Amino acid sequence: MTKPVPQARRTENYLQDLDYSVLQQCMHCGMCLPTCPTYMETGKEKNSPRGRIALMRAIADGELSVSRAFGDEMYYCLGCLACVTACPADVDYARLFEMARAETERQDVLNRPSRNLIRRLTLRGIFTRPRLLRAVGRLLYVYQAAGLEGLVRRSGLLRLLPKRLRELEPLTPRVCRTFSDGLIGEVEKPVERRYRVGLLTGCVQDLTFSDVNRDTVDVLLANGCEVITPRCQACCGSLHGHNGEWELAKVLARRNLDAFDLDGLDAVITNAAGCGSHLKHYDRLLAGDERYAQRARTWSNKVRDISEWLVEIGIRRPQVAATPLAVTYHEACHLCHGQGITRQPRDLLKAIPGLELRELKESTWCCGSAGIYNITQPAMSEKLRDRKVDHLRATEATVVASANPGCNIQISAGLVASKGRAMAVHHPVSLLAEAYRRETG
Ligand code: SF4
Ligand code: SF4
Repeated sequence: MTKPVPQARRTENYLQDLDYSVLQQCMHCGMCLPTCPTYMETGKEKNSPRGRIALMRAIADGELSVSRAFGDEMYYCLGCLACVTACPADVDYARLFEMARAETERQDVLNRPSRNLIRRLTLRGIFTRPRLLRAVGRLLYVYQAAGLEGLVRRSGLLRLLPKRLRELEPLTPRVCRTFSDGLIGEVEKPVERRYRVGLLTGCVQDLTFSDVNRDTVDVLLANGCEVITPRCQACCGSLHGHNGEWELAKVLARRNLDAFDLDGLDAVITNAAGCGSHLKHYDRLLAGDERYAQRARTWSNKVRDISEWLVEIGIRRPQVAATPLAVTYHEACHLCHGQGITRQPRDLLKAIPGLELRELKESTWCCGSAGIYNITQPAMSEKLRDRKVDHLRATEATVVASANPGCNIQISAGLVASKGRAMAVHHPVSLLAEAYRRETG
């Protein structure tokens, strides 16, 4: 079915601004219900995809006004998009959900001083200013590396924090000593070039998993790709797009379109599922922007998740056998449901000699990370995390592979909290990079 093309804004209301056919697509069949984690938890229609779509449509029809209860419901939704995979009517829930949150923010119905402050500092502050984000990252690194974190925990100072912040503290990711620009050259050339690609280094990924970005470059080089990593790239804007900051998401998208020389690239590569899902939609984000619409379409055609790209060009199998390694694979929602990528990461893992892939029960069920859901809805997030950890442990694998920084942080925290046998969490591309390194000793 051809998707409706987004128009330039016609009204002030994001939901009323949608092509009406998007709102009409749901035929109330209920096939999405058993796949929706919030519905399965509460059993309430309003917590289901069908119930939420009905609320959105009522607002678009002018039968309901945007209220605090509506806003709370939109933020209780994980945005995991499991309903999209299940839906036989091809309902574009991702777009509905983004517009519903954007309207919630526009009408400011969730206005609370602490919420406003956190959003101003994060979404509108550090995540729109790469230099500031890195400065904050460096401070956090010093704090962690100097052992101050442990000192603060032992001193009981954390008890002075509000309960919500105290619960979040264990989720603080380890910041890398060196960020991506210290590990990756602006241009890196393979021995024999087959392709030229651009690399998105991300924001959270850059600070906490710059090693994964380096591994991604190594794997691309080993597969004949020259890699261009522009220094002036911005956060992709997925956090903004998924959290109601639609106009800021456009600003960030334009910055990235300016940063990459698209004509000279065969593909633009991302290794973070949440980013990829958003980056592929720059075309619809900027559809009403005369200056950027064409460029955004070219961009969306060229964006590839790293596993998707490697399978497309043919993965070179590493030549050196390794000690057997039992690996299980957790599917990040925005890779499997958001981008329909399920086979490629498995193909990548199966290409590694000595690796045994053990399938995970409910591999596509959300781990509870869901962008900043673990911050905004800690109770539900923790339930999902523990459910995921139980399934991971049941595989008896020693490594969990997953392709999204948020999932990896969430799962690592869950594994530590469950106090069982140690399991390492890695991006699939890091396992492949390690296998290539074995070739050179
Ligand atoms: S995005 Fe996830 S939580 Fe939200 S309605 Fe769909 S399945 Fe349910
Ligand atoms: S599966 Fe699709 S059409 Fe059916 S109720 Fe859910 S969203 Fe509506």
